Amino acid sequence: MLELRHVSKSFGPTHALRDVSLAAEAGQTTVLLGPSGCGKSTVLRLMVGLLRPDAGTVQFDGEPLTPTNLEHVRHRMGYVIQDGGLFPHLTARENTTLLARHLSQSAPAIDERLRELTTLVKLPLDALDRYPVQLSGGQRQRVGLVRALFLDPHVLLLDEPLGALDPLIRADLQEDLRTIFRDLGKTVVLVTHDVGEAGYLGDTLVLMKDGTVVQQGSFEDLVERPAEPFAERFIRAQRSPVFDRM
Ligand code: ADP
Ligand code: MG
Repeated sequence: MLELRHVSKSFGPTHALRDVSLAAEAGQTTVLLGPSGCGKSTVLRLMVGLLRPDAGTVQFDGEPLTPTNLEHVRHRMGYVIQDGGLFPHLTARENTTLLARHLSQSAPAIDERLRELTTLVKLPLDALDRYPVQLSGGQRQRVGLVRALFLDPHVLLLDEPLGALDPLIRADLQEDLRTIFRDLGKTVVLVTHDVGEAGYLGDTLVLMKDGTVVQQGSFEDLVERPAEPFAERFIRAQRSPVFDRM
């Protein structure tokens, strides 16, 4: 569904990605995992066409992304950026329906879709008329999710959607996300630096380091057959020492 083929990307002297090849299969959840600065967000920005590769290609549904088909392809992708990216001067309702209104969808159709999605993501209806600052972190993420799902995209791209949440809310949303991904059967690409979250939500994990892919496989592959010492270290570093003492 979405594929990077031999993609390199630099920002001035920084090599953000070096010859990266990876694929996100249709209907599956692919998780990009790795330490801060390893290039995860850059992969997502290339996939949605916010960045162009210096070398290599980004393929969507078998076609390379080009400036000409970008607009069309973008409407088939839902993108949730790190910390939600809601417009602060718009209510949750205005944030989520912005694109649909821009595309001149009818008011009843928009209302119907909004009802459907708020139920799906468990957002209370009275939250819709609040501004982002008046919402909790978890609610903001749910609003971001409604906005991304509004046009029923084929692909959903989520950049550390749960990064800023406290542990209990995070666990709730992880469960809800897993249910949503499974029920909708969408192609999902999700970024996290949390191994547990990656294993819980991902069908396929892509472990990255310094702008390269270290290993792509299932959670079991990573844990039981780490491709290199870095993979083993990365996974071990995130096991809580408390559990080792029990
Ligand atoms: P991650 O999401 O894994 O934390 P990023 O993809 O955001 O990593 O960044 C990868 C590298 O590229 C980092 O060194 C980062 O500082 C650099 N980088 C990312 N975007 C830009 C940009 N717009 N300008 C300059 N450097 C950037
Ligand atoms: Mg990032």
